[in-house]
Amino acid sequence: MSDKQHSPKIWLSAPHMGGAEQSFVEEAFATNWVAPLGPHVDGFEADLSIFLGRDRHVTALSSGTAALHLALILLGVDRGDEVICQSMTFSASANPIGYLGATPVFVDSETDTWNMSPDLLEKAIRDRQAKGKKIKAIIPVHLYGMPARMDRIQAIAQHYGIPIVEDAAEALGSTLKGRQMGTLGDLSILSFNGNKIITTSGGGALVSGDAGWIKRARYLATQARDPAPHYEHSVLGYNYRMSNICAGIGRGQMQVLEDRVLQRRANFAFYYDWLAGVPGFSFQPEAEGAYSNRWLTTILVDPACSPGGVTREDLRLALAADNIESRPLWKPMHRQPVFEGCPFYGDGTADRLFEQGLCLPSGTSLTPGDLERVRAVLLKLFQTNTISTP
Ligand SMILES: *Cc1c(COP(=O)(O)O)cnc(C)c1O
Repeated sequence: MSDKQHSPKIWLSAPHMGGAEQSFVEEAFATNWVAPLGPHVDGFEADLSIFLGRDRHVTALSSGTAALHLALILLGVDRGDEVICQSMTFSASANPIGYLGATPVFVDSETDTWNMSPDLLEKAIRDRQAKGKKIKAIIPVHLYGMPARMDRIQAIAQHYGIPIVEDAAEALGSTLKGRQMGTLGDLSILSFNGNKIITTSGGGALVSGDAGWIKRARYLATQARDPAPHYEHSVLGYNYRMSNICAGIGRGQMQVLEDRVLQRRANFAFYYDWLAGVPGFSFQPEAEGAYSNRWLTTILVDPACSPGGVTREDLRLALAADNIESRPLWKPMHRQPVFEGCPFYGDGTADRLFEQGLCLPSGTSLTPGDLERVRAVLLKLFQTNTISTP
């Protein structure tokens, strides 16, 4: 057996507790608030609301996917409707459209932010409307923490009178011209899944400036119980609330969120310092006015100019051989079998990102030694390739 097989695993993005989480959870046990409601849920919602600012109302839910599902229900998305969604994203952005029997219409990314192209968004809206389709919502995503071009997307949405459901699952702590991600949609969603910048082990939140919508979402998320001493229901309900235990973890994580953003950005800086100069290598650009939480550091590898023609798959396999996890970028939704036949408006950008893109280990608990291990593997790969390919 080689030494390599004994190298400890380096994960792409592992959960990272700050220290206070356990005492919040212990408090929940001590007070017997072991339920999908309680003081930590209220406290976590208040923490988020204060952090986001801009008079946002927040309801904590069981997942980001549940938050998206409720957002689309609040907007009245129904069978036969269409919802425009960024193609370059995780499937959870689009699945809730399908839950409601509506059709996702996928829009390609722009090269500047890797997020929804405003030009293609407008093209899609015009074409769908010309075909007599009813578009109920637009779902832009802030991929890997990078703010989408929201000023233009908001202007287009407003012009055509279509609400925005902002998928900020990956972007808590990122800002655009001083505004927090998660505050730029009519409805916005956050995720606290285990691999996100902060975690509640599993959870999400729905955010809006409209208190009435958040109140309605809370009602729907708790089985839609009408006011009565018995159980009375006039609409379909869901069991989507966050538990008081998970919210306790969230309260502890909120204390370290700003540190986590700085740590993720330091990971990015580490990679950028020695990889930006390698021919054929490039990074997700941070547009003017944007501040990314750099949830994951992502690179593009163009084999037409990279050392010895290495591909992102060569990188991934070399890292995996040393027990280091990395992952291709999200495979675009218009390429997924589950969404086959759905309309797509694109110019090949997401396809190229998927083909050339790789997410590098980006967790905040990575040690300098871990990062050095990643560097050593890649430098060795460049050397081998440069020598073997004159
Ligand atoms: C993680 C994620 C979600 C879903 O959040 P869950 O809490 O895992 O349900 C939605 N959209 C994007 C872009 C995500 O990365």
